[in-house]
This record gives sequence, C-alpha cells and structure tokens, in this order.
Amino acid sequence: MAQDENRPSHHLKDGTFTNTSGISNNKSYKEIYKWITDKNRNKPTPYNFEMVSPNFEIINHENKSKSVTWIGHATFLYQNQQLNILTDPHLTLRASPFSFAGPKRYTKPGMTFEQLPKIDVVTISHNHYDHLDVKTVKRIAKDNPDAIFLVPLGLKRWFLNRSIQNVVELDWWENYEVNGTIITFTPVQHWSSRTLFDRNKSLWGGWYFKNKFHTLIHLGDTGYTNDFKEIQKRLGSVDFALIPVGAYDPRWFMKFSHMNPAEATQAFIDLDAKKAIGMHWGCFILTDEPVTEPPILLKEEVNNISLPKDSFITVKHGETILLD
Ligand code: ZN
Ligand code: ZN
Repeated sequence: MAQDENRPSHHLKDGTFTNTSGISNNKSYKEIYKWITDKNRNKPTPYNFEMVSPNFEIINHENKSKSVTWIGHATFLYQNQQLNILTDPHLTLRASPFSFAGPKRYTKPGMTFEQLPKIDVVTISHNHYDHLDVKTVKRIAKDNPDAIFLVPLGLKRWFLNRSIQNVVELDWWENYEVNGTIITFTPVQHWSSRTLFDRNKSLWGGWYFKNKFHTLIHLGDTGYTNDFKEIQKRLGSVDFALIPVGAYDPRWFMKFSHMNPAEATQAFIDLDAKKAIGMHWGCFILTDEPVTEPPILLKEEVNNISLPKDSFITVKHGETILLD
C-alpha cells in the first residue's frame, strides 16, 4: 500500500512506535516479576539531599537571563532570553497513577508552583509518570493559559481529554518555532506506557532548542543509542545538554531504557556537547542503585576519560546555573 511505503520506519503497522534501531523494549511482566522478587536485589533508601534556593534575581529578570534551574528529576526551568521553558514538569508527591501508592518523591521540588515565572513553553519527553504528571500539567496550564505544550506524536489527545487545549504534537525531526527559538523533537531509545494497554502508542524523545544564543538539548529518558551521533550530525553540536544519569540498575533490566553514568558521558561525547548537567536521579526511587551513586559515578567517569572537570556536572536541587 502506498501509505505503508511512506510510513517512517519507527511507525509500525499496528499504530504503535518503535526505536530507530527497530528494537522495542520488550520486557515482559514475567521479567518485571523476576526483578521485583529477586532476593538479592538492592533496595535503596532515600537520602536527604541538600537543597538550595533558586536564584530569583536571575529567574524573575524579565527574560534577560540565560539559565537553567533544576527543580528535580527531569524537571528544569530553562530560560533563554526569548522563552521561559519547563521540561517534563513534575512538582507533586508521586510518580504514579495513584495518589496513595507508587514511587513517592523523597526530595521536595526545587521550586513551588507559586515561585515559577510566567511559562511560555512546556516540553514533554514521553508519558511515563515521572515525566508527565497530570496534576502538574493541569496547574501549569491554569496558571499560564497561553503556554504551549509540545508533546510527542500520539499524546495530544491525552491533553485535550484533560482540557489542556494549547498542544502541539511532533514526530521525530519535526520542529516548531516560538519567538525565535526553534524546538526540534529528536529520537532517543525508550518506550511509552501509562496503562496496561497503551504500550508505545505515543512516541518518546528528546527536545533540541536552538536560538541565536546557543543550543540546548533535554534528552528525556533514554538508553545509550546511535541517535546521539545522528542528532549532532543533523542539528549541530550541543552547547548545553541535560542528560539522564540515574535509574540504571539492575543492568539486565534497565540498560535498554536508561543510561548509567559511563554511557551518559559517551552520549555527551557523541553530541559534541560543551557542557552538561546530569539529571533523572535524587527524587524518586525507581530502580536498584543507591540513590547517592549516580553523581559519584559520573564524577569518576568524567575524571577517568579526562573530560574537563566542570564539563559534565550534577547540581543541587533548586540550583540555578547561568548559560554563558
Ligand atoms: Zn520513561
Ligand atoms: Zn524516567
């Protein structure tokens, strides 16, 4: 059929999506059970990470600053002098379909709803509960009626069903320009699901921002993949990268979907990034590595492969970093 011939290779016939490699995350419920019930499993405990106050002088300086503030996990306030952008906003208690169960955050969000400046753009990397929180997006939409929600292909309806109307869904490599910033949705290696019946029915990816000042990428959630080299080739080297470095153990189960710090530094190199911040750690217990381990291993890794010491760092919850 002509329609099939025109179908990009990551669009499968049954309407679901796959990765650029053609390989989908196929972990079965049997394997999930094997992981959850493993007697030798390390069960991490929460840790009281230091929090700092965001730099409100910078944040509230009417779009004059170029900065990122880490609110926690994959959530950043990113200001680029043209826009105030929120990535994968999660400012509530749980990353779960239930208000009474599921991964509970042990580190408070670095900013409250009341402390956020006016938001112009919200980007969503995929629909997993730690990246798409219904209470948070509803509140952001209510407080910022003009904010545009940029979401992966197949996820627009979810927003419309929750009365969030200002939504644009993008396929990989499509872009959307807002006020001088070109925002491109890029492939990464992951998957999607919110219920037992919707696996890979919406897409997943990273968001690449380009304006006259710099380029920045938020990689969302990803395993190590050739996509990073392709992103650099197609869109250009990255000035600032927000790269996930946590939720990687046990490797046999997590390697496909999440990078460890060694893989994250390879991603940094593939993207030809100048500077990066490690994210996706220190907030929810999702996997088996000790919660304090990702920043320690990242530091070791940066040292081992002789990257400049301050090139790929982690920051404190709430910390504001200038992008200059
Ligand atoms: Zn995910
Ligand atoms: Zn995640």
